[in-house]
Amino acid sequence: MTQAIQALPWMTDINQQVAVLWAQQKMPHAICLHGQPGLGQRHQLAYMTSMLFCENKSDPAKPCGECRQCILFNNKEHPDMLILAPGDKSTSIGIDQIRQLTDFVMGTAYFAPMRIVIVDPLEAMTVAASNALLKMLEEPPPNVYFLVSTTKLSQLMPTIRSRLQFFSVLPPEFGAFCLWVQAVLESLEEPKCDHEVLYNAFLLAQKGPFLALEYILAHTKSQHETTELLFSFKRDPKQADLVSEYLRFQEVIKGPPAAATMHLGVLIKTVGVQIAFLFFDLWLEDALASLKEQPDAAAQHTRIEVLWQAYSRIQQMREDLVRSPQLNKVYLERELLDIWVATAT
Ligand SMILES: [Zn+2]
Repeated sequence: MTQAIQALPWMTDINQQVAVLWAQQKMPHAICLHGQPGLGQRHQLAYMTSMLFCENKSDPAKPCGECRQCILFNNKEHPDMLILAPGDKSTSIGIDQIRQLTDFVMGTAYFAPMRIVIVDPLEAMTVAASNALLKMLEEPPPNVYFLVSTTKLSQLMPTIRSRLQFFSVLPPEFGAFCLWVQAVLESLEEPKCDHEVLYNAFLLAQKGPFLALEYILAHTKSQHETTELLFSFKRDPKQADLVSEYLRFQEVIKGPPAAATMHLGVLIKTVGVQIAFLFFDLWLEDALASLKEQPDAAAQHTRIEVLWQAYSRIQQMREDLVRSPQLNKVYLERELLDIWVATAT
């Protein structure tokens, strides 16, 4: 049985704002969701599409799931929606997909009152594809709406940015995340997760619920690669079990620095340099927070200073890594080891 698309609790405000814009006939031609990765952007763009297509407007921010539009949509057969996203073997949206887009917008709507194009994420578009999209945004085809997302606002062409109405997506609080993810796991007939796994997955995903779900499924060794409940959610079957790796890391880092050299090499090999940095970042943040809460915090002044310097160094290096991902791995490993030894108790 096909499932009706579910609303994401952390998107409630956006759904209501879009429903009002539509009801007041003030809907912009292009809406862009802006936020960190892993918030379920594509699912949300699809949800808004279903909301706008639905014929039953008794709750304009919720598709009814029963009308002709909703049934077509939930069966993933709605011909008036086009999704442009990187393919399985590609990381970009290229000119072939733009040809598909041109054909789509030239046609007329089959069933819905409008046609909707989803682009997720915008920064995956090649320069040629971006230019073609820009032309369409400058002169929007009649009755076509663009629902798009970006996680890298600064990488968008300014001319494209100026044509979009932005909505910022904020991650949920941990409590709201737990309710949502437990419900998803139950629907997938997956076992319930204990608090420690949920907490660490949420931390590692930096509060991105879809990314955290991916980490949980990797941890529970689930066979699910896609889910029917979450539109376009496709899990990477090669995703390493970061939750277990992080729990192990937390144990090792408390031990003698001599054990660190060996563990660090294995860690970097398993999770990669970027995630190894994230581990240090999260651990130091947590260690600093718990030190400051202790009653003898003043006496711990030197230790706090050491951790704080290490934390600043990690932040700096993570920024460097974003700017130049090809930084020398040996150098990075040595830096991490220095930090590890400096912070060892
Ligand atoms: Zn409906």
